[in-house]
Amino acid sequence: MHITALAGGVGGARFVRGLRHHLDTTPGLEDTTVTVVANTGDDITLFGLRVCPDVDTLLYTLGGGVHDGQGWGRADESHRVQGELAAYGVQPQWFALGDLDIATHVARSQWLGQGATLSEVTTRLAARWGLPEQRLELLPMTDTPVETHVVVDDGEGGERAIHFQEWWVRHQASLPARRFVVAGLDRAAAAPGVLEAVRRADVVLLPPSNPVVSIGIILGVPGVRDALRGTSAPVVGVSPLISGRPVRGHADACLEAIGVPATAGAVAGLYEDFLDGWLVDPADAATTLRRGRVEVFDGPLLMSDVPATARIAEHALRIASSVPA
Ligand code: GDP
Ligand code: CA
Repeated sequence: MHITALAGGVGGARFVRGLRHHLDTTPGLEDTTVTVVANTGDDITLFGLRVCPDVDTLLYTLGGGVHDGQGWGRADESHRVQGELAAYGVQPQWFALGDLDIATHVARSQWLGQGATLSEVTTRLAARWGLPEQRLELLPMTDTPVETHVVVDDGEGGERAIHFQEWWVRHQASLPARRFVVAGLDRAAAAPGVLEAVRRADVVLLPPSNPVVSIGIILGVPGVRDALRGTSAPVVGVSPLISGRPVRGHADACLEAIGVPATAGAVAGLYEDFLDGWLVDPADAATTLRRGRVEVFDGPLLMSDVPATARIAEHALRIASSVPA
């Protein structure tokens, strides 16, 4: 069996880690391969280094090196380099970069500078984290540099666009967002293997990633949405909202910016044209009605630890085998 998942950072990575645990502990499913298509709209160049926050969160989480409490960055991290940069007054200082993490960005930037594509670079990084041995393939959604920007009020009656990371990390999504603009996305091409991974999968899963700035960005890569509509595989999604609220992060602010209510049902509406099954938490079951052809199921969705997350993934796969694709 082959599973393809579209993923952002923390929510996507934790879900895929649980999925892998379920596959590895279920007789007959161990050989299942998983392709993860990662959002790269969060990517940013800092201090001359190319940083891919969602790809890195996936690498560290799936490779066993993540800072678990935080959900992103490296375990046992130090911040000596950042301290030196601050001493020099180098900007920006609002984005946390640990010393071990910086090595990832140095390696990536060096390889990109030597002419490797982001896909090739990601393959090299994934090898270091042991992903192939776990039958995990990690693909950036595109090799074209793209960056999500957030259009906010400029305080003088006009508007200005800031990088997504500045809005999310520096301002904690507290500046009202008028809209999201993804620089470069309309001219981007899906990375090698991405469309095939969707078309040839036996099951396609949407982890509980941010529907606007993670999954929504991947869906904007030319060809991806058509591949999802056209695949013969069942497509099953897991809600990132519990009781109508994001479990972490600011998905509610992102949904508000695109005029979509923060409900599990409204999020399913964003995927209505290709989704077959939608898994919501019991807290949202009563208010989530079947939308078009999307069948709704419920089960506990808190990814409190790996075994609990594995049960969510198992439920999603059970739904995939029950819904008409
Ligand atoms: P990011 O790129 O690091 O923001 O990560 P993602 O986009 O992959 O995932 C963010 C989403 O994960 C948020 O909207 C959260 O609500 C959701 N999320 C985080 N933890 C959980 C959880 O335990 N259960 C569910 N259902 N969603 C979660
Ligand atoms: Ca992200």
